[in-house]
Amino acid sequence: MSAQETPVPTIWTTGWTTVFDTGTWRSQLPVHTWRPAPCFVSCPLGNEIPLWIRSITGGSEEDYKAAWEKVVENDPFPAVIGRVCHHPCETECNRQALEQSVAINSLEQYLGDLALEKGWTLPPAGAAQGKKVAVVGGGPAGLSCAYQLRRFGYDVTIYEARDAVGGLLKFGIPEYRLPQAVTDAEVKRVLDMGIEVKTGEAIDTGEKLEALRSSYDAVFLAVGAQKAKRLPYLGDDARILIGLDFLEAVRRGQTPTLGDKVAVIGGGSAAMDVARTLRRLGKAVQLIALEGRNELPAQEEEVVEALEEGVSLFDGAMVASLDTSKPLMELSCKKVVLDKEALAKGEIKPIPLEGSDFKLEAHQVIVTIGQDPALDGLEKAVAVESGMIKTNGGPAASLPGVFAGGDVATMDRYVSRAIGQGKEAARAIAAYLGHPEIAPLPAYTLDDAVARNEINPFYFPIAPREEREHTAVAERLGSFADVKIGYREGQALAEADRCMSCGTCVECDNCYVFCPDMAVKKAPEKEEYYAVLEQYCKGCGLCAAECPRGCIIMKQESK
Ligand SMILES: Cc1cc2nc3c(=O)[nH]c(=O)nc-3n(C[C@H](O)[C@H](O)[C@H](O)COP(=O)(O)OP(=O)(O)OC[C@H]3O[C@@H](n4cnc5c(N)ncnc54)[C@H](O)[C@@H]3O)c2cc1C
Ligand code: SF4
Ligand code: SF4
Repeated sequence: MSAQETPVPTIWTTGWTTVFDTGTWRSQLPVHTWRPAPCFVSCPLGNEIPLWIRSITGGSEEDYKAAWEKVVENDPFPAVIGRVCHHPCETECNRQALEQSVAINSLEQYLGDLALEKGWTLPPAGAAQGKKVAVVGGGPAGLSCAYQLRRFGYDVTIYEARDAVGGLLKFGIPEYRLPQAVTDAEVKRVLDMGIEVKTGEAIDTGEKLEALRSSYDAVFLAVGAQKAKRLPYLGDDARILIGLDFLEAVRRGQTPTLGDKVAVIGGGSAAMDVARTLRRLGKAVQLIALEGRNELPAQEEEVVEALEEGVSLFDGAMVASLDTSKPLMELSCKKVVLDKEALAKGEIKPIPLEGSDFKLEAHQVIVTIGQDPALDGLEKAVAVESGMIKTNGGPAASLPGVFAGGDVATMDRYVSRAIGQGKEAARAIAAYLGHPEIAPLPAYTLDDAVARNEINPFYFPIAPREEREHTAVAERLGSFADVKIGYREGQALAEADRCMSCGTCVECDNCYVFCPDMAVKKAPEKEEYYAVLEQYCKGCGLCAAECPRGCIIMKQESK
């Protein structure tokens, strides 16, 4: 009997016969595939979030360690980033389609703190490549680059102008948001990979840069943005201070003597840090920002916490002039709105509102309105554009063998961006030095990512987000205690369970079970784990609809 003559079985069977060759009906074929999750795409340092969160769900210490090891592939500072990242990953998290985003940043803090407690070590340095790289600046960008270069096996020397590395993590962001002990421990772990550090070595002239170029195979410039912006029209009275200088002095235990009433000018993260530090020193603080309450460049949680701590916010306001003739200086202020057209071009143009004048008094005024890179010496050697080191769109600067990243090369000034750019620069340097197998990192966008409407909510029960506790306001004001208390026992596990692993197949078998034609076969030998039997699949798309996490795409076929 030929295949065509095989009778149709009269009872249900799991056997296959060519009579059911329904594949010919098809106009589209399901393809099991890994797809980027939106959290991953929006993380500035390329954190493979669904991957390591899935490891946490195992629940044992070994599982947590495996998760941490995945995190440090991209970021050697999870305890730091778990406290200070502005977490754009959470803004894009698909879980918001159900209730709230997954608390990715809290999970990072949990893993980072656990690693420090358990003394877990970073992966060892790679096999020696016999080439050496100079990293200029020991902030997060420089340290991240040095770390990745050591993993590739390059010898690295960090040239740091200050007396210690750490950059703004150590001398900018205050203790109550980022304990010194956490930064020091994570930095030490990186340096212990065999990185040489030369402190008190400012590379701030073209000649010094040329000297490095002739003694090293490549140079990475990560000198940050060190030149504070000022408001010259306020005058140069000694009671006008600069926010970054103030924060560094407090970090070093050299807090300047201040009166009871202090005015802070600025609306970004640094201004919030100055204001909140002053509150911890017992000062009455008036924070004056050009932007309205909902336009402030600081992270929302920082603004909320500053207000909780008693900072008086004068938003949508500017200081027009300062009378320094009295012990208590007088600030003449006006309410303003920001010109929308200028704002669209990235410019800040305040328009004063008539009849809105008001006065404030302060013993000191601390100006904290941002900073620019200090490139007066280096710009004779490398090209500078818009006040930053000019790069080729990636990390390469204008001189062969010279690369740049972090605040000195971008306006996107975040710790996560600095770490990400350090990583990218290390890869570019390794490729420049002829390192084998350095493929460029894929540049995914949110258009490539699994969208919220591709998630099947039926498979994910509603589960409220686990919030980490915050230190009570009274305790905060009396000390510099860490504001973000990490997760308690069990919270990390519960939170990890909320992640839907968008775009990453977890072998749940839905496609296998739901296919009416039994055209999906388990194929453990394949990376995708499933295979579609093309002769039977009629392209109905049920598997894709029932995949909880968007791992099956329907590929159009033309016959
Ligand atoms: C007060 C404050 C709070 C902030 N809070 C946050 C936050 O909560 N979250 C967040 O994501 N971002 C925050 N940021 C931004 C973030 O800190 C920076 O984007 C990040 O530190 C940039 O890293 P970097 O390595 O490029 O520069 P930096 O951290 O500035 O490090 C540069 C390093 O280079 C050294 N250096 C400078 N010049 C030379 C030279 N010529 N030769 C040798 N060494 C040199 C410096 O001493 C320093 O160690 C904050 C910034 C400030 C100012
Ligand atoms: S580094 Fe920031 S953006 Fe990236 S995963 Fe962590 S919290 Fe999210
Ligand atoms: S549910 Fe998980 S994988 Fe999906 S976007 Fe949120 S954190 Fe990422």
